[in-house]
Amino acid sequence: MHTDFKFHPQVTQVGCYWGDGGHTELYLIEGDDLALIDTGCTNCPGEYVAPALAALGRELTDIKVILNTHGHFDHAGGNAALYDVAGAEVWLSERDAPVAADLELQFEKYFAQNDTLVGRADRLPASKETLYKQARPSKIDRKLADGEVLDLGRGVELRVLPTPGHTQGSVSFYWEREGLLFSGDALPGRGSRPGGFPLIYTPAAFEQTLDLIGSLDLRALCMSHHYRTLTLSTESVKYGAAIKGHVDECRQIFRAVARGLRAALRERPGAPFLEVGRAATAAVAQNMPVAIDQDTGLPQWGPTAILYALWQLERKAEGAWR
Ligand SMILES: [Zn+2]
Repeated sequence: MHTDFKFHPQVTQVGCYWGDGGHTELYLIEGDDLALIDTGCTNCPGEYVAPALAALGRELTDIKVILNTHGHFDHAGGNAALYDVAGAEVWLSERDAPVAADLELQFEKYFAQNDTLVGRADRLPASKETLYKQARPSKIDRKLADGEVLDLGRGVELRVLPTPGHTQGSVSFYWEREGLLFSGDALPGRGSRPGGFPLIYTPAAFEQTLDLIGSLDLRALCMSHHYRTLTLSTESVKYGAAIKGHVDECRQIFRAVARGLRAALRERPGAPFLEVGRAATAAVAQNMPVAIDQDTGLPQWGPTAILYALWQLERKAEGAWR
């Protein structure tokens, strides 16, 4: 089953399923050249993009450009499958290019910590195998610089906005004339899975990203997942007042986790990550729904990303207290 949603004469959202309950929204953009924002996992171009294109009277070989919002496997993991068929170019932010090109690096940088930080290094081989089943390494044809404008013809001009937080190299593509922002995972709410924590790996710049997106005059905010927040529905495309609402709730959620982590750290100076993370998770769970893993005491979804990144930041700020 594929779910396509053509909400603009030149933009079609393509919903893709992958792995065990994973879901990513891709966006086909029809300029002179056909472009696809993100490709999902390896199975997604063939299973979901091809039928969506058929409904538009087009085919995979018409795609000339792949634009990635960032390098993660569920966004750039389908690049190779698509360019094998279509020969499309891959354009990606300079900072996230290495993780799309190198799955080993991606695993070490983002996913291994979910096992190692909770004392389950025995699970690493299985976790890595799952990643390799879902994604292939990507070639990179063009490294995008912040602020550059990508002219795809027929009035499609996408500005590359740096929107770090989820990853250091996350970017959003801004079609100013139409008020459309394709923000990838830049605004992750509480994450897309029930009771999870937001996947924010580089929290230092996250609030600036919220400020930037909040300052834009948008008609539609086009995200890659159905993020949960505090009060809003999980629609992946948001309009009108719901856009600012989503940005505001992302900020509230981020601050709640940061407060919980700081308080937990203050009460346990010098304690190891797992102990601090567990206390922070319990504190946050007082104020929003969190599905806590019984073994680790951390959230089942997104157990280490934001907690570990904030823990490292706070320890750096505290300096040599240890
Ligand atoms: Zn991601």
